[in-house]
Amino acid sequence: MRSKIDQNDIFIYNSLTGLKEKFKSINPQKLGIYVCGPTVYSYVHLGNCRTFLSFDTIIRYFKFLGYNVRYVRNITDAGHLENDLDEGEDKISKKARLEQVEPMEIVQKYTVDFHNVMQSFNALPPSIEPTATGHIVEQIEMVQTILNKGLAYESNGSIYFDVLKYKEEGGGYGELSGRDIDELLSGTRELEGQSEKKNSFDFALWKKASPEHIMRWSSPWSVGFPGWHLECSVMGTKYLGEQFDIHGGGMDLKFPHHECEIAQGKAANGTAPVNYWMHGNMLTLNGKRMSKTTGNTLLPRELFSGDNDLLDKAYSPTVVRFFMQQAHYRSTLDFSSAALRASEKGFNKLMAALKLLGDIEYKSGVLDDSEDLKVNELCNKCYEHMNDDFNSPKTIATLFELVAKINTFTTNNTIGKISEKTFKYLKDTFEGFVIDVFGLLPLVENDSDKLDGTINLLVEMRDEAKQNKDYALSDKIRDNLSQIGVQLKDGKEGTTYIIK
Ligand code: AMP
Ligand code: ZN
Repeated sequence: MRSKIDQNDIFIYNSLTGLKEKFKSINPQKLGIYVCGPTVYSYVHLGNCRTFLSFDTIIRYFKFLGYNVRYVRNITDAGHLENDLDEGEDKISKKARLEQVEPMEIVQKYTVDFHNVMQSFNALPPSIEPTATGHIVEQIEMVQTILNKGLAYESNGSIYFDVLKYKEEGGGYGELSGRDIDELLSGTRELEGQSEKKNSFDFALWKKASPEHIMRWSSPWSVGFPGWHLECSVMGTKYLGEQFDIHGGGMDLKFPHHECEIAQGKAANGTAPVNYWMHGNMLTLNGKRMSKTTGNTLLPRELFSGDNDLLDKAYSPTVVRFFMQQAHYRSTLDFSSAALRASEKGFNKLMAALKLLGDIEYKSGVLDDSEDLKVNELCNKCYEHMNDDFNSPKTIATLFELVAKINTFTTNNTIGKISEKTFKYLKDTFEGFVIDVFGLLPLVENDSDKLDGTINLLVEMRDEAKQNKDYALSDKIRDNLSQIGVQLKDGKEGTTYIIK
C-alpha cells in the first residue's frame, strides 16, 4: 500500500514566488522546518501564539502523514533592537534596566512563560530550540565568511552587509518583500548614528557596543553583539543545512528580517537558504494588529481566567486553539468574545461526536451504498483541504459534515449502513484530524464545562438568596468562591466570574 506521504500531494503558498507550489522535501519522508521564535522580553500575547499555533497545526499534519520532522524554533535572547532596525536599545537589556535585574533573568522569566503557554495550548515542542546567545561563535564565523566574500564591510568596529554590492553580484534583495532598492533609498531617512553605513538600507551583521550596552561579546572587530537577522541564518544552517525545506514566521517578519536572512544565506553559502517561505497573517484586536509595542494585546492567561474586560467569561486553551484554526493561517483574524463563544459551541459539538464515535461498536446491517460513498468522500476531503495550503477552516467544515453523519448513525443505531472498512476509515480520519492534526483536547474542555456549570449554579443560588433578602447566604457564596480564587463580577448583563 502507498504511504500517506505518497498519497497526499501538499500544495504550499510560497511567499517568495506568490504561488501555490507542490511540496517536495529535500530528503524523502523528512521535513526540515525553521520557525522564528519569540523575543523573550515580555509575556507572549495571543497574536504571537497565533503564529506559533498555525505552524503547530502545519507540523502536526506533516507528522500525521508520516514525515520525520525536524522542527527548529529559536529563542531570541540578544540582538533584537527596539525599532527592529539597527538602532536603539536591545529589547531585553532595556527590560532588564527597567526591572533592575540581569538580562538573563528577563530571558529566563519570559522563556518559562512562553513554554507554559505553548504547553497549555497543547503545542508540540520543537525538536531543537536554540538561542542567539548560545551561538555567538557561529555568528562571528558567518560574519567572517560574508566579509571574506567581499559582501560586507567594517565601519567603526561594526560590520554591515553591503546590499548594493550583493545586488550587483546577482543577489535578489527585495524578492521576498517586493521592495526595490530605489524605493528603499527614497523611503529611508538618514537616522542619526547611521552615517557609518554606506547606504541606509545596509544592515548590521555585527554592532560595536556602546558603553551602556550590557549584552556584549568579544569579536575580531569590536566588543559588541550580533545583528538580529544573523541568529536565524546561523541556527537554520547549523541544524537544518545550508538549504532546507520550510521557513515560517508572521507576515511582519518578511521585511527586514527574512529578506536579510535570504541575503545572508546566499552571501555566505552561495545558495538560497529556504525552498518554501511561509507567513502567517496577523491576529487583530479592534481591527488593529495585536502588538507588544502598541499595547493592543490580550494575554493567554487573561483568556484562561476571564480576567479582561473584553471577555464575557473564561475560555479554555483548547477552545482558543480551535477558534484560531477556524481561520486560514493566511487570513487575518479579528478577536472577539462573541466569536470565541461561537467557537466554543462548535467545539463542544465536535467533542461530543468524538466521544460518540469512540463508544460505537461496529455492527453490520443493511449496507447503503450512497451513505458509504458519502462518508468515504468526506474523509478524503479532510485530506484534500489540508493538502491545499493547510486549509483548516474547510477541513473543520468537513469534519462537521462528518459530525452530522456520526450523530445520525448513533441516534438511529444505523452504523451498519456503511461497511466496516469505511467505519474504520471514518474513525481513523475523524480521530486523527481532531486529536493528532488539530491537537484538540477533549478532557480539559469537559472539566472546564463542569466547572463553568457549577459556578453558574452557585451564581443562580446567590441571585435567589438576594431576591429572598437572605444576604447572609448570598455574601457567603460570594466570599467563599472568592477564597478559592473565583471572583464574581456583577454587571448590567448579570453576574460573570473570573478565576484568579
Ligand atoms: P516577536 O516576539 O515580536 O519576535 O514575535 C514572535 C512571532 O509572533 C513572530 O513570528 C511574529 O510575526 C508573530 N506575531 C507578532 N504579532 C502578531 C500578531 N498580531 N498576529 C500574529 N502573529 C504575530
Ligand atoms: Zn528569525
